[in-house]
Amino acid sequence: MNFSLMTIRELASGFRGGEFSAVEVAKFFLDKIKKNNEENFSFITITEELALEQARKADERIAKGDENLLLGISGALKDNIMLKGVRCTAGSKSLNNYYSSYNAHIVEKLEKEGSVILGKTNMDEFAMGSSTENSAFGVTRNPYDLSRVPGGSSGGSAVAVATGCCSFAIGSDTGGSIRQPASFCGVVGLKPTYGSVSRRGLIAMASSLDQIGVFARNISDTIDLFEAISGKDELDSTSVDYSFSRKEIDVSKLRVGIPKEYFIDGMDKRVEMKTKEAIALISKMGAKIKEISLPHTDYALPVYYIIMPSEVSSNMSRYDGLRYGLSDDQASDLIESYFRNRGKGFGMEVKRRIVLGTYTLSAGYKDTYYQKALKVRSLIKDDFVKAFKEVDIIITPTSPILPFKIGEKIGDPLSIYLSDIFTVTANLAGVPALSLPCGKIDGLPVGIQLIGRSFEENTILQAGKAFEELWNSR
Ligand code: GLN
Repeated sequence: MNFSLMTIRELASGFRGGEFSAVEVAKFFLDKIKKNNEENFSFITITEELALEQARKADERIAKGDENLLLGISGALKDNIMLKGVRCTAGSKSLNNYYSSYNAHIVEKLEKEGSVILGKTNMDEFAMGSSTENSAFGVTRNPYDLSRVPGGSSGGSAVAVATGCCSFAIGSDTGGSIRQPASFCGVVGLKPTYGSVSRRGLIAMASSLDQIGVFARNISDTIDLFEAISGKDELDSTSVDYSFSRKEIDVSKLRVGIPKEYFIDGMDKRVEMKTKEAIALISKMGAKIKEISLPHTDYALPVYYIIMPSEVSSNMSRYDGLRYGLSDDQASDLIESYFRNRGKGFGMEVKRRIVLGTYTLSAGYKDTYYQKALKVRSLIKDDFVKAFKEVDIIITPTSPILPFKIGEKIGDPLSIYLSDIFTVTANLAGVPALSLPCGKIDGLPVGIQLIGRSFEENTILQAGKAFEELWNSR
């Protein structure tokens, strides 16, 4: 049986009907991961023993009549999420030998649900990047064309789902790291509202922007997963008391905004055409399509590339070689030890952002850059608040470009930063956003992005579900 093709609900009913067991499914996925990993390297660590143990326990619970939907469902975690006792590298040499001392809140939740963790997926170092080329452990390859990138930074999670190596994967999204790789790999990716999923146990990149979310092969699985992982965590002060409840909506009553600022010169015309095709289909569902304006969009990338590195430089200061991971004992004094550990442990992109962030936070420049960026961030947030008075969801392309060749942009960080142009706004505003597949161009997947009001994941998910059904039945 090909478990890769089955939805969470199909698997759950197969378990209950005695057609197969969670252990069989876990073994199927583990075999597939081992085979695929040689080709596309989506996993840094495979947690075979743990997975089989969890699957055995799930089978026991199922036999006792436990109806929990995620029981025995196999998934993967991005390697910046703590899984107790398992190596957690965040894609960095500096954490090469770091083993998590506790479980992330999301892991606690998944364990309680009874899901099975197959391993930890490859990522750009500390989640900084858009291609998964910045991992210290090797590049992940796009399954649709192995010479191309899968997107990033959660490229490993996207590829794991796209290649059918698991039923779902967890990622983190600071400026697009779930949605852009989802788009590049032809899967669904949800970045929930800031605060709706606890960040405890997620290795921080830029704390006011980071959000944990999910990759899945379809919207129905995405809804089931989001329901399981969202909710208040007393130990994360930014987590919000919000419980997601799914509800059917009348999609024909939706007011859909298309922001004119998201169709820009320089974007791939083929992506623009595909997006417009998707919008035409959405209008066929009866939804009212309306052009809107998010006037501060032009400032989103510059603001993101000030606020993000500022927070990065502060979050990265804990990797001093004394507390975690790589520790070089050749230094003759403390200062030299910092230089040696951080010099050796961090890759180019991380260093670049630490330098940038240290500058934007430094005395004399803080007001010019960081404080000003915070003000413009509020204007960007306001754009969304205003727009959501006129419309219920906003639709945009997820990425202005198609998956690019490995190595093609690595020497030109600015051109890589530009690929985040449509995704960073949702992080700056804290609103939820979903990327879903809308076909292929020359064999490469394309995604559209649905953005919603804060804590209205249900609206974008239900709209996405209606779109998915219509798109697949064409
Ligand atoms: N690509 C973006 C960056 O490099 C987003 C990263 C992310 O969301 N983690 O900053």
